[in-house]
Amino acid sequence: MESIMNYFETIPSSHRSLILVGGITFFWLVEYAVPLFKFRYKKFKHAWPNIFFTLTTIVINFVLAFILLKTSDWTVANKFGVIQWLGLPLWASVLLGVALLDLIGAWLAHYVEHMVKPLWMFHLVHHTDHHVDTTTANRHHPGESIIRFVFTTLAVLIVGAPVGIIMLYQSLSVVLSQFNHANISLPKKVDDIISWVIVSPDMHKVHHHYVLPYTDTNYGNIFSIWDRIFGTFAKIRKDDLIYGVDTYPDVDANSNIGKLLKLPFLGYRPPTVKKVKKSNS
Ligand SMILES: [Zn+2]
Repeated sequence: MESIMNYFETIPSSHRSLILVGGITFFWLVEYAVPLFKFRYKKFKHAWPNIFFTLTTIVINFVLAFILLKTSDWTVANKFGVIQWLGLPLWASVLLGVALLDLIGAWLAHYVEHMVKPLWMFHLVHHTDHHVDTTTANRHHPGESIIRFVFTTLAVLIVGAPVGIIMLYQSLSVVLSQFNHANISLPKKVDDIISWVIVSPDMHKVHHHYVLPYTDTNYGNIFSIWDRIFGTFAKIRKDDLIYGVDTYPDVDANSNIGKLLKLPFLGYRPPTVKKVKKSNS
């Protein structure tokens, strides 16, 4: 564990980029092998806006990274934050640290984005993808990247996370997000079992269903336990799944970078509530 922490404390930017690009490439290839849906779409054309928004997300996080590092240094120097107070063995601090960063920096950030209208308008860009695949993972409007950065900084402060734990968390977060957005079909049993620990592809796809109440479920990114604890866990049959947001049906507009950038500043259109028949899958 010590050597893992040493590695992440000083992880070079090139390795971080490799994790991101390597992850997308890997899941992209798996999508060809075992697709969940046989989309009739041009994979590269579809990927372009998503890659553009991934790049803006990287730039924003890179420019603001010093705030995260300063916050982390301050918590460690002043022994502030949950894991600083508890003084657990290293492995337990790492596990608890990653779990709490996931809760506050991802689950809570995501939940609040769904509950607060102006924040939802930014997050909407992520939800307007009609073909959810691994490139959708970081399809975040620059405004959303900033909102998420604020929550991550808050999480680091509450957790008292040293740099090593933050870097490990961010690396896991990137790969897990690419994994649970990937258009891949795992054997149902396997998907079910892993969804007890981490957010599986089937679990996250429910969140991308085009109507409420499903859009407001399964907010998790790394660990599935948060949705189970807070009662926001839901299932839906694959055949009932339709991606996107029903009040934003224009596929062309939803793949146009210029229009997507302006989307948060246009009028609010609430999604419709439409429950599908109860399923036990
Ligand atoms: Zn969402």
